[in-house]
Amino acid sequence: MGKKVVIVGGVAGGASAAARLRRLSEEFEIVLFERGADVSFANCGLPYYVGGVIDARKKLLVQTPVSLFKRFNINVRTLSEVTRINPQKKEVEVKNLKTSEVYSESYDFLVLSPGARPIIPEIPGINLPNVFSVRNLADTDSLKQFIETGKPSKALIIGGGFIGLEIAENMKEKGVEVTIVELTNQIMAPLDFEMASIVHDHLRKNGINLLLKQSVTALEGDTRVRKARLSSGEEIDVDMVVLGIGVTPESGLAKEAGLAIGSTGGILVDEYLRTSDPNIYAVGDAIQVKHFVTGQDVLIPLASPANKQGRLAADNIAGRPAKYKGTQGTSIVGTMGLVAATTGVNEKTARKLKMNYGVCHTHPDDHARYYPGFSEMSLKLIFARDDGRVLGAQIVGKQGVDKRIDVLATAIRAGMTVYDLQELELAYAPPFSSAKDPVNMAGYVAANILKGDYAPCYWDNWDEVLSENPLLLDVRMDKEAEKFGTIPGSVLIPLNDLREKLAEIPKDKPIMIFCQVGLRGYIAERMLKQHGFTKVRNLCGGYKTYKPLAKLLKPAKASETA
Ligand code: FAD
Repeated sequence: MGKKVVIVGGVAGGASAAARLRRLSEEFEIVLFERGADVSFANCGLPYYVGGVIDARKKLLVQTPVSLFKRFNINVRTLSEVTRINPQKKEVEVKNLKTSEVYSESYDFLVLSPGARPIIPEIPGINLPNVFSVRNLADTDSLKQFIETGKPSKALIIGGGFIGLEIAENMKEKGVEVTIVELTNQIMAPLDFEMASIVHDHLRKNGINLLLKQSVTALEGDTRVRKARLSSGEEIDVDMVVLGIGVTPESGLAKEAGLAIGSTGGILVDEYLRTSDPNIYAVGDAIQVKHFVTGQDVLIPLASPANKQGRLAADNIAGRPAKYKGTQGTSIVGTMGLVAATTGVNEKTARKLKMNYGVCHTHPDDHARYYPGFSEMSLKLIFARDDGRVLGAQIVGKQGVDKRIDVLATAIRAGMTVYDLQELELAYAPPFSSAKDPVNMAGYVAANILKGDYAPCYWDNWDEVLSENPLLLDVRMDKEAEKFGTIPGSVLIPLNDLREKLAEIPKDKPIMIFCQVGLRGYIAERMLKQHGFTKVRNLCGGYKTYKPLAKLLKPAKASETA
């Protein structure tokens, strides 16, 4: 028998490490401990099982202890909690949760993949029976059973993160009235505010009661929650509560064993995913990672990094040195027909870190407009001002979001610039894309900004724009203002008439052009600049980006032409 590898945690990272180890060598003795009753289950599928989209529980079980033994000769022990690590003796203490027996197990190498646990807020009533969190199959079984037997009609979801949104969608699917209470001014923290605002509007249009900048201060009821008290003083009737306010790394076991813990609270590992003890590796939601773009120490609890880290840790144990290069936080969520996805750095972080960055907003169609069924998406690109490197992207839309975010995630991994995005040759036929794909378009717009051909202004420097008392020039067609709305105080000169009406536009005044999505505004900007107008800017992303934010922005004074 070769070396003995003990693995703590049998889901994403742990099961990946175990299977990879076996593929690399038949010699290892592999023992996998899992506190829960199941291993290798699809936690990402749990919300869809709640809603019935995934119809059978067994479909969530990717592997079972028996299949892992048969195929990989892995000794899987479920309902077995590792309660202590003794790095000196190279032993773990294990409690059999069925029999309460406690015993020791030796190892040559230990892999920790204990994941992260849901954060439970300390508020009165939090322990009442109809308050749920969703981490594993057991939690999901209780939630599903409650929905089926308790027939709730009003659900409260605390926290507007990915899991909260997925649960909201699935509860709605079940005919339950859903309220989401979110502490900050936006849901889905990885998105910037204006991108999250699109999702806010969508949720509200689809009947979700979304309460932002509020918290739940107490849950009230005798045997089960009946009411939730909010920080606003409001009280709402609820039949059940689901917690989705985030997770915290399960680093306690590592900490007690004297392993180094990072500043974020995650287990500290080196680039080989080795902890401060060379015989102990750690992976997944429990570890602190370097952000791929910023190099910052971060916690990014996602399935794809956890799986890859499990595989890498196995490579390193098997004597094939492999470095983990960091996590960029590529993620995607679907909610009631809308998809929101993100990768890399958002603008909030870029601003906080004082990065020298630029931003552009576009609203391209997922495929050629002349082919039936097209749909517009909103794409935000964040790029380095000095060399044009792509730093981050966010996309919200109904179709084609997944493939564009993946291309942009790949571009970030490859260290590509916005100039490279212009050149990408991507698959095109009318049902699938446009000859200039949304990714190419984002590259063109960003490159235009960097070359100084396009001077953008943004919703978040609106006050500064207005302080110059600009002419607000709408270059859309006559009917568009009526159909979509407009910026109060603006003057309408459709783009096609602009060349003939140049004399009506004051030369000495700053001009802020806008159109529906930014493209016609850019054409107008180029025209005006070449006719000697110097103080011209174009509203980035056009009226479409402005609209969801309009109520937050100062109204402009009425503009006048000459
Ligand atoms: P886990 O997969 O959580 O596994 C850790 C396991 O370790 C647990 O089963 C736990 O019981 C066990 N354990 C902990 N301590 C001990 C101990 N002392 N002894 C024995 N066993 C122990 N990510 C995405 O990228 N996309 C998604 O769509 C997505 N959806 C999600 C939906 C839900 C409802 C949840 C809960 C998570 C979702 N995630 C998603 C996150 C993703 O599942 C995690 O990032 C990933 O599972 C982390 O893998 P891990 O191995 O670190 O931890």
